[in-house]
Amino acid sequence: MKVRTRFAPSPTGYLHLGGARTALFAWLYARHHQGDFILRIEDTDRERSTDESVQAILDGMQWLGLDYDEGPFYQTQRMDRYKEVIQQLLDNDQAYYCYCSKEELDALREEQMKNKEKPRYDGRYRDFTGTPPEGVDPVIRFKNPLEGDVTFNDLVKGEISVSNTELDDLIIARSDGTPTYNFTVVIDDLDMEISHVIRGDDHVNNTPRQINIFKALDAPIPEFAHLPMILGEDGQRLSKRHGAVSVMQYPEQGYLPEALLNYLVRLGWSHGDQELFSQEEMIRLFALEDVNRAPSSFNTEKSIWINEQYIKNMPATELAERVAPKLDYLTEEGPELEAVVDALRDRCKTLNDFVDAARYFYVDPDEYNEKAKKKAFGENTSDIFTHLSGKLDSITEWKSELLGAAVKETAADNDVGMGKVGMPLRVALTGNTSSPDIGITLELIGKSAVLKRLQQVQNYL
Ligand code: GLU
Repeated sequence: MKVRTRFAPSPTGYLHLGGARTALFAWLYARHHQGDFILRIEDTDRERSTDESVQAILDGMQWLGLDYDEGPFYQTQRMDRYKEVIQQLLDNDQAYYCYCSKEELDALREEQMKNKEKPRYDGRYRDFTGTPPEGVDPVIRFKNPLEGDVTFNDLVKGEISVSNTELDDLIIARSDGTPTYNFTVVIDDLDMEISHVIRGDDHVNNTPRQINIFKALDAPIPEFAHLPMILGEDGQRLSKRHGAVSVMQYPEQGYLPEALLNYLVRLGWSHGDQELFSQEEMIRLFALEDVNRAPSSFNTEKSIWINEQYIKNMPATELAERVAPKLDYLTEEGPELEAVVDALRDRCKTLNDFVDAARYFYVDPDEYNEKAKKKAFGENTSDIFTHLSGKLDSITEWKSELLGAAVKETAADNDVGMGKVGMPLRVALTGNTSSPDIGITLELIGKSAVLKRLQQVQNYL
C-alpha cells in the first residue's frame, strides 16, 4: 500500500511551530517512504476560519519547503460529499436525528454531575420512533457501538484501547446541517486514501470515535501516530507568550528555513546525539519509532545555535543571496556581498545580524562609538594615521596580505604595538572596535573609501 500522509490545519490563526512540526513529520514520513503528502484545509468552522489564515499556512509551508503532492483541498468545497455520507448512515440506521433541546441536554448534564457520573449524551433518541417534538432543529448523531472496545496501535504511543461504553453518540451534523470535525476528517482521510494519520496528540481522544465511523463505513482504517506536544521553556504548553510562535516570524528574525526545519525535527525526534541534519538526511533517517513519547521543550537558544551552524556552513554565494534582501544600503561601488558575508559569518547568528555587521563595508561611519573612541584614540593617533595613509596610498595591489603587512609596518615604524594602529584604524573605518581581520577589512572596504575615512577621522581628531 502506498504511504499517503496529510497535514490538515484549521485556518483559524497563523501556522505556529506546533503545526509546522506536525506538518514536517507527516511530510518526512511520506518522503521517506516515497509516498504522497497532502494538504487539507479544515475550514468548516466558518466563524473562525479566515482567508488570511489560509494564506499564512500556505506561506509558512512554502517558506519551510514542505511541498505537497495534492491539495490544498478545502473542506468547505466537499460539503455535498459529507451530506451524501450522512444520508447513507441515516439510511443504514447507523445515524439518527436527535431532537434534544439545549435545556434538555443541560438538565441531563446537571443530573449526571450530581450523581458523580461522567457527563455524556444518554442516547435517548437513538431508537426513537415517535413524533418528533415541534420547533427543534435536530442534530444528527452517529450510532456508536454500545459494546466492545476500540483498540489501535498508535505508532508513537503504543496500544490504546477504549471501551465503547466510554463513548457517547457523536454529533456528526449540527442542527444547521453542517458536518462536524470528527466526521469530516474521517470522510476526507477515507476519500484521500490516507494511510497514516500523523497529528498532534490533542486529537488522540478523537481517534477511537473516528475509528468507529471508519468501521461503520466498512472502510480500511489508517494507521495513527500522535505526536507529543511542544512545551515552552517554562514547561507550559507552547503559546504566544513564548515569543515568536508564528512560523512567518522566523524569516523576519533572520532564521534560515533549513535551520528552523532542522530545529523542528529535533523537537520530539532524535537520531542518536546528532543535532544537524540536511534535508536529505532527515528524510533518510526519519522513523516514527524514534519519535519521543514525552513532550519536548522549545528552546530559543538552541534554535539560534542551529541557525548559526547553518550560517557557518552555507556556501557564500547562497548566503549572500539570503542576506541581500535584508540590506538596504548595498551599492554598485561597494564590495562583493559574497566576500563580505564570508568575512562576517563567524560573527553572525541570524541573517539580521548581517544588517549591522555589514553596514560599514558600504557606508562611511557617521559617528564613532564613544567608548571605542576613548579606548582607541590617543595623542599620537593622528600622526600614525598620517603615516598609514601614506603607506596605503602607495599600495597598488589592494590585497589583504599586503594591507595587513602595511598596518604592521606602520606599528613598527612608529615604535608602537599593533593595538595602537589596528584598533584606531578599526574605529576610523567602522565606527567601532570590532571587525574581521584588518587586512581583509581594508581590502573589502576598498582603497578610495579607506583613504576617505582616514581623512575624515583626521579632520575629527
Ligand atoms: N484540523 C485539525 C487541527 O487543526 C487537525 C485534524 C487532524 O489532523 O486530524 O487541529
